[in-house]
Order: sequence, then structure tokens, then C-alpha cells
Amino acid sequence: MGAVRDRFWELPLDRLDPAEWEALCDGCGQCCLHKVEDADSGRIWPTNVACKLLDLKTARCSDYRHRRRYVPDCVRLTPDLAGSLEWLPATCAYRLRADGDPLPGWHPLLSGDPLTVRLSGASVIGRVISETVAGPLEQHIDWGDEEPLEVERADDDAD
Ligand code: SF4
Repeated sequence: MGAVRDRFWELPLDRLDPAEWEALCDGCGQCCLHKVEDADSGRIWPTNVACKLLDLKTARCSDYRHRRRYVPDCVRLTPDLAGSLEWLPATCAYRLRADGDPLPGWHPLLSGDPLTVRLSGASVIGRVISETVAGPLEQHIDWGDEEPLEVERADDDAD
């Protein structure tokens, strides 16, 4: 990590320098999971399928510097996007700060220990699989407490 200001994470996102911006990430890996959009409602559902570049042992991108060469649609977060992307997890440090909320105590910048991300339950380590082996994303949707969407079968029209 480059030189950063004392308690920089309390500053507005648009006042962070590049080193501070990068250091704000808690390393949870949740933004590197694929999502599925319901074509009817537009609702976006999370899955437990990770981008092919995600190192599943560390929850870090295996080639962060060149990631867009391999994954052209990888989103480059900005202060504006951090406040508007509905699929960013509620625990995401960028989302929290975009909303003016403080970082949780388990964030490594506060705890001083990356392991606290796992202890908090926010890390994807041990909970996801790679897109290289997952098969269809629709079979890996995380429904939370909600009922699965009704899937229209090919033979439904024949009735
Ligand atoms: S969800 Fe936010 S805090 Fe977690 S890895 Fe992605 S950018 Fe970092």
C-alpha cells in the first residue's frame, strides 16, 4: 500500500487519492460474483459463481492490473457508481462510504487483520465456485429468503 492519510476512510470518496481508493476495499470478493437479471422485473439476483479471475483461496483478483483484458465488462468502480450500483453488497466499503456510513469494525483498516473479513461472514472464501466449472448461472442463484422465480418451461405453451 502506498502512503495514505490518517483515517482516510472517513473522507468523502471523491477526495481519496488512488492509493487510498484501492486500500478502501475490504477484499470480500462479493463484487466478483456473477449476477442474474430477471428479464421481466429487472431484478438482479446474486449467485455463488465467481469470475474466472477470482482467486478462490484469497478472494482477490488473480490479475487485477490486467483484468479488463480478460474480462472487458469488469466494472471500474467510481464514487458515483459506488452510490448507485444496486448489486454492490450492503457491506461493501465503497457503498457504505458513498452512503455516508462508517466502515464496520471488522474492516481490515479498523481491525488491522484481514482475517476479520472472514470472521464477519462477508468474505466469499469457501462459499463460491468458479465460473470455469459452474455450468449455467441460473442453477446457482442465491435466493436469500425469497421464493425462486417461476421458470417457464418449453412445454408450457403446449397446454
Ligand atoms: S464488494 Fe466492495 S469491498 Fe468487497 S471486494 Fe468488492 S469492491 Fe471490495
